[in-house]
Amino acid sequence: MSFDIDVAIVGAGVAGLSAAAALRAAGRRPVLFEALPRIGGRAFTDHPAALGGAPFDLGASWLHAADRNPLAPLARAAGIGLRATEGSWTRRIMLDGWAATEAELAAYQATSERFERLARARAAAGPDASVAEAVAGLRGDPWLPLVETWQATLIAAADPREFSVQDWHLNELTGGNLAVAGGVGAMVARVLAPPPATLHLATPVRHVAWDRPGGGVAITTGAGTHSAGACIVTVSTGVLRAGGIGFTPALPEAARAALDGLPMGLLSKLGIAAGPTPLLPAGTSLYHRVADAGERAMFFSRPLGQDHIVSFFGGRAAWALAAAGPAATEAFARAELARLLGGAPPLGPAVLSDWGTNPAFLGAYAYARPGCMAARAAMAAPIGAGLVIAGEAWCMDGLAGTVGGAFLSGARAAGLVQRKDGFTGA
Ligand SMILES: Cc1cc2nc3c(=O)[nH]c(=O)nc-3n(C[C@H](O)[C@H](O)[C@H](O)COP(=O)(O)OP(=O)(O)OC[C@H]3O[C@@H](n4cnc5c(N)ncnc54)[C@H](O)[C@@H]3O)c2cc1C
Repeated sequence: MSFDIDVAIVGAGVAGLSAAAALRAAGRRPVLFEALPRIGGRAFTDHPAALGGAPFDLGASWLHAADRNPLAPLARAAGIGLRATEGSWTRRIMLDGWAATEAELAAYQATSERFERLARARAAAGPDASVAEAVAGLRGDPWLPLVETWQATLIAAADPREFSVQDWHLNELTGGNLAVAGGVGAMVARVLAPPPATLHLATPVRHVAWDRPGGGVAITTGAGTHSAGACIVTVSTGVLRAGGIGFTPALPEAARAALDGLPMGLLSKLGIAAGPTPLLPAGTSLYHRVADAGERAMFFSRPLGQDHIVSFFGGRAAWALAAAGPAATEAFARAELARLLGGAPPLGPAVLSDWGTNPAFLGAYAYARPGCMAARAAMAAPIGAGLVIAGEAWCMDGLAGTVGGAFLSGARAAGLVQRKDGFTGA
């Protein structure tokens, strides 16, 4: 049977671009359909006027797990500068108006280590539990909510009460972080750029029919319907859970159950122009000790020597602010910074991410609910004769939620298309 398209790929984020590159290398002819007028998805370096045109990663900004991140060698081969971030940040934690002393920072470090020991032990021994339940023995330690903020709310974008400790353990980002010259999004757009003739931008896919009598898949966009020998769908679990793409027949029950187990967390970023005032030394991370995980924002001053401050907030607080709107979010971050610095600093305009409300994403990245870690493996095989689901959420290599994980998942999806009998294409 012949098809209009050999392999259709829905989404030109890292997973879709990685799948396309692997298929091209194998001699296949993939075609990408992307809803937005740009590639990269959640890896996106903007150059906003608010920050004087400086590169600003609205999504991914580091290559985590440097020693096993598949994008690091690609960036190096393209001559893109990578810099290890270990030791390059100075931490300043504020407690009721004063900066934590060395002894207090040592107490924080000790709580972090106890947290890791307890959480790893529970993850290994099972049964699965929430991160909060796994470390319940530390409740009452004044540093625990801040450790949970880092380990769950910021790194996994998830509330520790709703996040699987086994998933936390599987995806611990050990091995160092790399900063990327010019931004992660710009690097992705450069090293994974597909041939322009194989890319349809601003072309959202509305429908995928995957169980056709003659085999293959039919995908429908605003411009019409195309048949394809196979289809790799790489949109976020947020888009799939919200029904952003219709499927005929509906996705199998096991796939829908897996989606229930992998909701999207939210991490939001606000970049604020710092101007010439040396407000904080470059490379300072500044935040409050918190009473409840994720309730406050965290700030990085002048990353990569740039003239701006980046504010991060995650989990429930980030969702509440996304619902309240950009003005409320910006006001919150500026008020937080003023509290941290003991007075409103003279700052310039700001730029805010919209991952929680943008219908192309509906969150930052997926986390597993307690008991649902196995959901990440639910898409390890094709659905029907021609449909494969990929993306950061479905990475089983310990890098779920990251650009490295999205890359590996896309490559795996390409491998499934290559191996599957009948995925012969046009
Ligand atoms: C604030 C933030 C900070 C982060 N920090 C880091 C970090 O420092 N390091 C790291 O490794 N990772 C980080 N991540 C996570 C990382 O960005 C993602 O895991 C990764 O980029 C996801 O890639 P993906 O290809 O799976 O999905 P996506 O990037 O979401 O790609 C899917 C694509 O599908 C498109 N799409 C959606 N609907 C349709 C449709 N109907 N038809 C066609 N196309 C559609 C979308 O526009 C998108 O381009 C961060 C993410 C966020 C949001």
